[in-house]
Amino acid sequence: MKIICIGRNYAKHAKELGNAVPTEPVFFMKPDTALLKEGDFYHPDFSKDIHHEIEIVVRINKVGKNIDEKFAHKYYSEISLGIDFTARDLQEKCKEKGLPWEKAKAFDNSAPIANTWLNVSNLKLENLNFKLLKNGSDVQIGNTGDMIFSIDKLISYVSKFVTLKVGDLIFTGTPEGVGKVAIGDHLEGFIEDKKLLDLNIK
Ligand code: MG
Repeated sequence: MKIICIGRNYAKHAKELGNAVPTEPVFFMKPDTALLKEGDFYHPDFSKDIHHEIEIVVRINKVGKNIDEKFAHKYYSEISLGIDFTARDLQEKCKEKGLPWEKAKAFDNSAPIANTWLNVSNLKLENLNFKLLKNGSDVQIGNTGDMIFSIDKLISYVSKFVTLKVGDLIFTGTPEGVGKVAIGDHLEGFIEDKKLLDLNIK
């Protein structure tokens, strides 16, 4: 399986990092070794600025290539929550030099994901609240209605370049409020009132 991550899919987040709002989706990938399905997140020592990015995650359930946007809904039935951990200090250096972001984005355990999946038939996908709490306080509050590119558009766009396979995950971008995590922090992720993610930084 592969993890496809969308960058800059919420205008206020693009702006908070000084990036232009994109006119087409930005995507990058993380390897399967980035997945963290259970246990704590151990802060790596190669970065002094690991940021949380809470994101709605879509799990692909059918192989597809060149998927038309109007059929994209047939390629997934469940969503959940994940964190796209980012070594912001390393990413800034990569960006300055015009280099790829893998060091900053694809490191081990950089993609914690909830173990509970929600069936999309029970959800209003175009108007879904989600949030991240750090040490009990709201730090990121998002709504899928603020996505620049919808889940169906993202699936259509990415599948022009990369064949999607069963089990692939798409991290759909983060809303504003990204920030640093430190050892001892406690992160909790919610979709609406349902707590899906619970993670300690060690
Ligand atoms: Mg992200």
